[in-house]
Amino acid sequence: MSPSDRIATARAELLKRYETLSNKSDILKSRELKELFSVIPTLEPHERAGFGQSVNALSNELKAMVDSESVAVKELRSIDVTAPFDSNAPKPELLPSEQGSIHPLMAEISRLSEIFSRMGFVIEQSREIDDQYHMFEALNFPKGHPARDDYDTFMTVETDSDGSPLIAPAHTSTMQNRILKKYKSNLESGDAIAAVVPDRVFRNEDVDARHEHTFYQVEGVYVAENVHAGMLIATLQKFLEEYYERTLNVRVNPFYFPFTEPSFEFALSCPFCGGEDPACKVCSGEGWIELLGCGMIHPNVLKAAGIDPNVHTGFAFGCGVDRLVMMKYAIEDVRHFHSAKLDFLKQF
Ligand SMILES: [Zn+2]
Repeated sequence: MSPSDRIATARAELLKRYETLSNKSDILKSRELKELFSVIPTLEPHERAGFGQSVNALSNELKAMVDSESVAVKELRSIDVTAPFDSNAPKPELLPSEQGSIHPLMAEISRLSEIFSRMGFVIEQSREIDDQYHMFEALNFPKGHPARDDYDTFMTVETDSDGSPLIAPAHTSTMQNRILKKYKSNLESGDAIAAVVPDRVFRNEDVDARHEHTFYQVEGVYVAENVHAGMLIATLQKFLEEYYERTLNVRVNPFYFPFTEPSFEFALSCPFCGGEDPACKVCSGEGWIELLGCGMIHPNVLKAAGIDPNVHTGFAFGCGVDRLVMMKYAIEDVRHFHSAKLDFLKQF
């Protein structure tokens, strides 16, 4: 075989092989190519230069093919972020876990859930998207009720079966109807319905030191026979004294909510200064803090869940968790919670 035939044969062979390789650069390490190079010194001097040039040309041709392939792969390969994690891929770099900590709000939600569960309440979760029936109708806010305007929140483009937009719940009371239905059988066996819902809620607020668009509430529902407002006040007082680990005075003033009758605004004596410090930042020197809304569950709310209000009565309350925690630690700005500032978070 003449040297030029030999190169032509090897080239055809290499090009055919190239197509089958998954790692294209392997072609540059192939046995055929190495053999061609090893032939060069064995040739007669007059053949050597021409043959050497042809071998180099073939080698360069293959290199160019490999290079263009890798550029094409780099340009085309996109990342599928939904693909399952490839266990053979290098592990992503993570911060050491000892630098992490539980967020103060989550820690306090665990704490208050633990207190309520010792008091006999079950813990339920809310939803982050709900329908207007559970937000309003089931809570005695008929369509067009002016009090709906007090619960300005975010809505989705998608609608419920009535054609109303779905909403990000503005209170955890959206769970009342579901809880009453879920635990109704307790009443038949002579037990109470007792549940709390600590979860996230949303409002279309102008954000400032006291207002956030996303915050936490703990909803409480208690239904049994002969429940009265004194039990509501005692339950809340007991809970708050456990939470703040001190004796507190409480005060109720009449208020209005469509889903409770009567309704109250519940205030407690300042857990920080006890009303002793006129310069107290927590209570502004007033000694009292309006903390939460509560009341006796409206008969229409019980009826909406199939409970006879002539036999069973109950109370409900809704308390801002962020507010509770801010008072506990004298946190002056609610925006710290979502700021992800380490100098804030490291204090807990
Ligand atoms: Zn105070």
